[in-house]
Amino acid sequence: MSQLLTHSRQDAFKTCRKKHYFSYELGIRQSEDAKPLRMGSAYHEALEVIGNGGDLSQATEAIYKYYDEHPNQYDQYEWEIERETVLRLLCGYVWRWENCHLTHVATEMSFNIPLLNPETGAASKVWDMAGKIDGIVTLEDGRLAVMEHKLLSEDLSSDSLLWKRLRIEHQISLYVVAARRLGYHVESVLYDVTCKPTIKPSQVAILDENGAKIVLDAHGDRVRTERGLYRQTGDTSKGYVLQQRPMTAEEWGEKLSADIAEKPEKYYARQEVPRLDQDLSEYEYELWDIQRTIREAQLNDRHYRTCNKNTCSFCSYFSICTNGWKAGDTLPDGFVQLQNLHPELTGETTNVNSNTTAETGIASTSPTA
Ligand code: SF4
Repeated sequence: MSQLLTHSRQDAFKTCRKKHYFSYELGIRQSEDAKPLRMGSAYHEALEVIGNGGDLSQATEAIYKYYDEHPNQYDQYEWEIERETVLRLLCGYVWRWENCHLTHVATEMSFNIPLLNPETGAASKVWDMAGKIDGIVTLEDGRLAVMEHKLLSEDLSSDSLLWKRLRIEHQISLYVVAARRLGYHVESVLYDVTCKPTIKPSQVAILDENGAKIVLDAHGDRVRTERGLYRQTGDTSKGYVLQQRPMTAEEWGEKLSADIAEKPEKYYARQEVPRLDQDLSEYEYELWDIQRTIREAQLNDRHYRTCNKNTCSFCSYFSICTNGWKAGDTLPDGFVQLQNLHPELTGETTNVNSNTTAETGIASTSPTA
């Protein structure tokens, strides 16, 4: 059976061969999804529901289901805040793009297709190209495009680094090449980004039964004003402390929704990212070269480290890498070894909306490439 060359795998190899070795040769992963990964997955699941023609209530249901099982070691309050964040971002997303008329042709489209030598057209005997395209859409002007959703923490303004970086990013090239090989004659990529909030849940005043704030002095007695009313503000110089509690998840959701309504452009942006045929051709040559280099590393057991602050500081394998862990040793807590190196692709089916099959004349479960 061929090995699968995904975008993540290439990325891991190019970042650090050792990281690729841990992740894609040994199948070692963190046992709990890290928060950014979890939020991104929950958000993607909800957008998949929308892409398949579901409504907001069905999409929010998908998020509730995703967060149904609360891991014991994770703080309950933090869990609820995280879920509320994803829910409110989704509501804002639907509101933000309600007047944008895209036709969803396919959603969450997994692919596994032969990797071709760009010189000869012959298929690799070792590797297949694999991945999952978030969607294929028909744009308002009728062109077909790959749609890529991302939940990021980046500046989305039109002149930001994000959009410049995407002009040279490989994931998009891979998806355009794959979509065309699957028979979708895509002409563009619609990059659809949601930004995570930079605001946070705050403290709110505790109210008494009459709705008044509670301010206590150093003795724990309630402070009154000169007119005999309950004081409503703290004063550290006098030792008056306003009694507060953390926001509930619902209150946090209201705060976030208000910020989204005020500054939607900070949270949501879409841009077309062009890919020229020349870009795609260069990418296919690069891909062929990368598979050869990975194969050499495998055959010669050469999994060098790329050790610097730009790689190690963000690496989930830092602890086992720096502690001299080696294959065969017992894995420390927090890690598992997977049999399936690409769980994100497994069990996924291609959904093709009925209206689209007519448009494209293909079913993505039966690749025409
Ligand atoms: S900690 Fe650094 S050297 Fe080790 S696998 Fe990660 S990136 Fe590579």
